Amino acid sequence: MTIVYIGLGSNLASSAESPRQHVITAIESLDDIQSTRTAHISSLYKSKPLGPQDQGDYINAVVQIETELEPLELLDNLQAIENKHGRVRKEHWGARTLDLDILMYGEDIINNERLTIPHPEMLNRSFVLVPLAEINSDCAIPGKGLVRDLILNLDQDGLEVSNE
Ligand code: ATP
Ligand code: CA
Ligand code: CA
Ligand code: CA
Repeated sequence: MTIVYIGLGSNLASSAESPRQHVITAIESLDDIQSTRTAHISSLYKSKPLGPQDQGDYINAVVQIETELEPLELLDNLQAIENKHGRVRKEHWGARTLDLDILMYGEDIINNERLTIPHPEMLNRSFVLVPLAEINSDCAIPGKGLVRDLILNLDQDGLEVSNE
Protein backbone atom coordinates (compact mmCIF):
# COMPACT_ATOMS: atom_id res chain seq x y z
CA MET A 1 0.00 0.00 0.00
CA THR A 2 1.36 3.40 -1.00
CA ILE A 3 0.14 6.84 0.10
CA VAL A 4 -0.44 9.00 -2.97
CA TYR A 5 -1.58 12.60 -3.39
CA ILE A 6 -3.73 13.54 -6.38
CA GLY A 7 -4.25 17.13 -7.53
CA LEU A 8 -7.61 17.82 -9.17
CA GLY A 9 -8.63 20.80 -11.29
CA SER A 10 -11.48 21.87 -13.56
CA ASN A 11 -12.34 25.14 -15.26
CA LEU A 12 -14.68 24.04 -18.01
CA ALA A 13 -18.31 22.92 -17.78
CA SER A 14 -19.61 20.05 -19.87
CA SER A 15 -23.29 19.68 -20.78
CA ALA A 16 -23.76 17.60 -17.62
CA GLU A 17 -21.51 19.20 -15.00
CA SER A 18 -20.05 22.49 -13.80
CA PRO A 19 -16.35 22.64 -12.86
CA ARG A 20 -17.34 22.16 -9.20
CA GLN A 21 -19.41 19.07 -10.09
CA HIS A 22 -16.58 17.65 -12.22
CA VAL A 23 -14.24 17.84 -9.22
CA ILE A 24 -16.79 16.38 -6.81
CA THR A 25 -17.69 13.42 -9.04
CA ALA A 26 -13.99 12.82 -9.85
CA ILE A 27 -13.24 12.62 -6.12
CA GLU A 28 -15.94 9.93 -5.85
CA SER A 29 -14.42 8.09 -8.83
CA LEU A 30 -10.98 7.96 -7.15
CA ASP A 31 -12.39 5.69 -4.46
CA ASP A 32 -13.81 3.39 -7.17
CA ILE A 33 -10.36 2.71 -8.70
CA GLN A 34 -9.35 -0.92 -8.15
CA SER A 35 -7.22 -1.63 -5.04
CA THR A 36 -7.49 2.02 -4.02
CA ARG A 37 -9.19 3.88 -1.22
CA THR A 38 -9.64 7.55 -0.45
CA ALA A 39 -8.15 8.69 2.86
CA HIS A 40 -8.39 12.52 3.01
CA ILE A 41 -10.13 15.17 0.89
CA SER A 42 -9.27 18.89 1.00
CA SER A 43 -11.72 21.74 0.74
CA LEU A 44 -12.53 22.93 -2.76
CA TYR A 45 -10.51 26.01 -3.77
CA LYS A 46 -10.95 28.61 -6.48
CA SER A 47 -7.84 29.80 -8.40
CA LYS A 48 -6.93 31.91 -11.41
CA PRO A 49 -5.91 30.02 -14.59
CA LEU A 50 -2.25 29.47 -15.52
CA GLY A 51 -1.21 30.35 -19.05
CA PRO A 52 -3.93 31.68 -21.37
CA GLN A 53 -6.14 34.15 -19.43
CA ASP A 54 -9.19 33.88 -21.72
CA GLN A 55 -10.56 30.97 -19.68
CA GLY A 56 -12.56 30.54 -16.49
CA ASP A 57 -11.36 30.28 -12.90
CA TYR A 58 -10.38 26.84 -11.67
CA ILE A 59 -11.87 24.71 -8.94
CA ASN A 60 -9.03 22.73 -7.31
CA ALA A 61 -8.67 20.12 -4.59
CA VAL A 62 -6.10 17.61 -3.34
CA VAL A 63 -6.98 14.08 -2.26
CA GLN A 64 -4.86 11.56 -0.37
CA ILE A 65 -5.43 8.00 -1.54
CA GLU A 66 -3.94 4.66 -0.58
CA THR A 67 -3.30 2.29 -3.46
CA GLU A 68 -1.81 -1.08 -4.36
CA LEU A 69 -1.43 0.05 -8.00
CA GLU A 70 1.91 0.81 -9.60
CA PRO A 71 2.38 4.45 -10.73
CA LEU A 72 1.67 3.81 -14.43
CA GLU A 73 -1.40 1.68 -13.62
CA LEU A 74 -2.67 4.52 -11.46
CA LEU A 75 -2.00 7.05 -14.26
CA ASP A 76 -3.99 4.85 -16.69
CA ASN A 77 -6.92 4.88 -14.28
CA LEU A 78 -6.70 8.65 -13.78
CA GLN A 79 -6.60 9.29 -17.53
CA ALA A 80 -9.64 7.02 -17.97
CA ILE A 81 -11.51 9.19 -15.43
CA GLU A 82 -10.40 12.36 -17.29
CA ASN A 83 -11.69 10.88 -20.54
CA LYS A 84 -15.00 9.92 -18.93
CA HIS A 85 -15.38 13.59 -18.01
CA GLY A 86 -14.96 14.59 -21.65
CA ARG A 87 -11.39 15.86 -21.36
CA VAL A 88 -10.18 17.03 -24.76
CA ARG A 89 -6.44 17.74 -25.10
CA LYS A 90 -5.93 20.97 -27.00
CA GLU A 91 -3.70 23.90 -26.12
CA HIS A 92 -1.14 23.50 -23.32
CA TRP A 93 -2.66 24.72 -20.04
CA GLY A 94 -5.91 25.49 -21.90
CA ALA A 95 -9.35 25.05 -20.36
CA ARG A 96 -10.29 21.51 -19.33
CA THR A 97 -13.24 19.70 -17.77
CA LEU A 98 -10.94 17.67 -15.52
CA ASP A 99 -7.23 17.40 -14.78
CA LEU A 100 -5.88 14.72 -12.45
CA ASP A 101 -2.17 14.93 -11.58
CA ILE A 102 -0.16 12.54 -9.42
CA LEU A 103 1.61 14.92 -7.05
CA MET A 104 3.50 12.37 -4.96
CA TYR A 105 3.68 8.58 -4.91
CA GLY A 106 4.97 7.64 -1.46
CA GLU A 107 8.59 8.79 -1.21
CA ASP A 108 9.32 7.71 -4.78
CA ILE A 109 11.16 9.85 -7.30
CA ILE A 110 10.06 8.86 -10.80
CA ASN A 111 11.24 10.15 -14.17
CA ASN A 112 10.02 8.34 -17.25
CA GLU A 113 8.25 9.16 -20.51
CA ARG A 114 4.83 9.34 -18.91
CA LEU A 115 5.52 10.40 -15.33
CA THR A 116 7.55 12.92 -13.39
CA ILE A 117 6.99 12.51 -9.64
CA PRO A 118 6.98 14.53 -7.44
CA HIS A 119 5.02 16.71 -9.86
CA PRO A 120 7.65 19.23 -11.04
CA GLU A 121 5.40 22.29 -10.87
CA MET A 122 3.76 21.65 -7.52
CA LEU A 123 6.37 23.73 -5.66
CA ASN A 124 5.25 26.81 -7.59
CA ARG A 125 1.50 26.31 -7.24
CA SER A 126 -0.40 27.59 -4.24
CA PHE A 127 -3.55 25.79 -5.50
CA VAL A 128 -1.64 22.54 -4.92
CA LEU A 129 0.40 23.26 -1.78
CA VAL A 130 -2.36 24.97 0.23
CA PRO A 131 -4.90 22.12 -0.09
CA LEU A 132 -2.07 19.61 0.48
CA ALA A 133 -1.10 21.30 3.76
CA GLU A 134 -4.78 21.36 4.74
CA ILE A 135 -5.02 17.55 4.64
CA ASN A 136 -1.47 16.86 5.94
CA SER A 137 0.11 19.73 7.88
CA ASP A 138 3.38 17.75 8.26
CA CYS A 139 3.59 16.83 4.59
CA ALA A 140 7.13 16.77 3.12
CA ILE A 141 8.01 16.67 -0.57
CA PRO A 142 10.89 14.22 -1.21
CA GLY A 143 14.09 16.28 -1.62
CA LYS A 144 12.27 19.63 -1.27
CA GLY A 145 11.16 20.11 2.32
CA LEU A 146 7.98 20.71 4.29
CA VAL A 147 4.93 21.89 2.37
CA ARG A 148 4.05 24.39 5.09
CA ASP A 149 7.50 26.03 4.70
CA LEU A 150 7.31 26.04 0.90
CA ILE A 151 3.95 27.85 1.07
CA LEU A 152 5.56 30.78 2.89
CA ASN A 153 7.56 31.66 -0.26
CA LEU A 154 4.55 31.49 -2.58
CA ASP A 155 2.27 34.16 -3.94
CA GLN A 156 -1.28 33.14 -2.98
CA ASP A 157 -2.57 34.85 -6.18
CA GLY A 158 -6.27 34.99 -5.45
CA LEU A 159 -6.59 31.47 -4.07
CA GLU A 160 -9.68 31.08 -1.88
CA VAL A 161 -11.71 28.29 -0.31
CA SER A 162 -14.89 27.84 -2.31
CA ASN A 163 -17.11 25.31 -0.58
CA GLU A 164 -20.56 26.72 -1.30
P1 ATP B 1 1.04 20.35 -15.79
O1 ATP B 1 1.79 19.05 -15.82
O2 ATP B 1 1.92 21.57 -15.89
O3 ATP B 1 0.11 20.45 -14.61
P2 ATP B 1 -1.14 19.53 -17.50
O4 ATP B 1 -1.67 18.87 -16.26
O5 ATP B 1 -2.04 20.46 -18.23
O6 ATP B 1 0.20 20.36 -17.15
P3 ATP B 1 -1.56 17.31 -19.18
O7 ATP B 1 -1.88 17.71 -20.58
O8 ATP B 1 -2.72 16.99 -18.28
O9 ATP B 1 -0.64 18.42 -18.50
O10 ATP B 1 -0.63 16.03 -19.14
C1 ATP B 1 0.34 15.76 -20.12
C2 ATP B 1 1.12 14.49 -19.74
O11 ATP B 1 1.82 14.67 -18.52
C3 ATP B 1 0.30 13.26 -19.46
O12 ATP B 1 -0.03 12.57 -20.63
C4 ATP B 1 1.21 12.42 -18.53
O13 ATP B 1 1.81 11.34 -19.21
C5 ATP B 1 2.30 13.40 -18.14
N1 ATP B 1 2.67 13.44 -16.73
C6 ATP B 1 3.97 13.56 -16.29
N2 ATP B 1 4.03 13.56 -14.96
C7 ATP B 1 2.75 13.44 -14.51
C8 ATP B 1 2.18 13.37 -13.20
N3 ATP B 1 2.95 13.44 -12.11
N4 ATP B 1 0.83 13.25 -13.10
C9 ATP B 1 0.06 13.19 -14.23
N5 ATP B 1 0.55 13.24 -15.50
C10 ATP B 1 1.89 13.35 -15.64
CA1 CA C 1 -12.10 1.84 -3.06
CA1 CA D 1 -1.96 19.79 -14.17
CA1 CA E 1 -2.40 16.67 -16.00
